[in-house]
Amino acid sequence: MRRLLLVTTILIAMTMVRAAEGDSMNALAERYVKLVLALGQHDADYVDAYYGPPEWRKEAETAKRPLAQIDRETAALLQSLGAAAPARGADEMTRLRHTYLTKQTGALRTRVAMLNGRKLTFDEESRALYDAVAPTNAAAVFERAIQELGRRLPGTGSVLERYEAFRSRFVVPRDRLDATFKAAIEGCRSRTLQHVTLPPGESFTVEYVTNKSWSGYNWYQGQYKSLIQVNTDLPIYVDRAIDLACHEGYPGHHVYNVLLEKNLVRDRGWVEFSVYPLFSPQSLIAEGTANFGIDVAFPADERLAFERRTIFPAAGLDPAGAAEYYEVLALVDRLSYAGNEAARQYVNGAIDAKGAANWLERYALYSPPRAAQRVRFMDQYRSYVINYNLGKDLVKRYVESAGGAASNAARRWQVFEQLLSSPRLPSGLVGG
Ligand SMILES: [Zn+2]
Repeated sequence: MRRLLLVTTILIAMTMVRAAEGDSMNALAERYVKLVLALGQHDADYVDAYYGPPEWRKEAETAKRPLAQIDRETAALLQSLGAAAPARGADEMTRLRHTYLTKQTGALRTRVAMLNGRKLTFDEESRALYDAVAPTNAAAVFERAIQELGRRLPGTGSVLERYEAFRSRFVVPRDRLDATFKAAIEGCRSRTLQHVTLPPGESFTVEYVTNKSWSGYNWYQGQYKSLIQVNTDLPIYVDRAIDLACHEGYPGHHVYNVLLEKNLVRDRGWVEFSVYPLFSPQSLIAEGTANFGIDVAFPADERLAFERRTIFPAAGLDPAGAAEYYEVLALVDRLSYAGNEAARQYVNGAIDAKGAANWLERYALYSPPRAAQRVRFMDQYRSYVINYNLGKDLVKRYVESAGGAASNAARRWQVFEQLLSSPRLPSGLVGG
């Protein structure tokens, strides 16, 4: 009897400790959210989404705390987080939550320093903001891929000119864009819903916009709603329909945000997920899952079949050219990391804007207008570029090493969904 009493007492004490830990983490999370909102007053791109208490945003707008004060409060928060490390036996979600909050707060402090004029190299910046460093590749790596592409593409002129000529057959006409995009969204959504349960009422709206440095953007609004914007400044090629629909919508950014809101904000009361600071490790997970999500929803063969059957006809294009188009795109995809090299040299001051555009044209096969748009993106987002390709590769490796190979669709979706619903960060992907 006495032993039972002792066990009961210990159990009650443990529950109280756990509840107190939760309380103190919730208080630290609130401080973090308020600091993100405060920094948003100095950096228009910083707060990508916020759907927490509206009075917190008002408070940030009214107070307009100076950077020096934000820096002091962020340092104090980091100290409090250091003192609030979970017990060794704590469950995985509790540990992930603490690590997440610590890394996100560290990135916030770096962004404050950058706004205060601190200069970081490309790799220093990506490590501090995105918890990852992209590999460096020599130009020769891309030259080999370009030579191969040159042998593949018909016609005369430079490889870029021949690639542009080849591609011009695959532009979606402006008046068919919406129908094509809607068909792609339907395909991405139905495939996602076969494996992932989404809360009732989730949806998004699509807008076509111009004069942006990006090609598509998901603005998450909370309440399971997104606004997706598609930039029509440049020609939109047919492959972008599925890429954008998956990346921005299903199972990409829209689904990621919906699952965070459902599982972490609403079910667990973890308020830190009601804000999304763009320049933070969370972005590598967001972009990496959005890009890998395209392959999860559409394994190569299925994609080709869907393109032929649904997307090419919706765009008014001849489906007979689909296979050849995707073969060429697979070769061009090998140049993806050339964009990182252009951004690295540009951010490091080794080349100027013209040099960066030239590099993109020469090694990443960007058309001149697309290269100019990408340099604008680099001006605005700098080392953020690594989140797309390195992010995708890290997420792919993580999902596949956890049993989610392409041949095991059920497990692949399961690991992918768990990743979208947990506070795992880039360095945690490598170790996991
Ligand atoms: Zn994205």
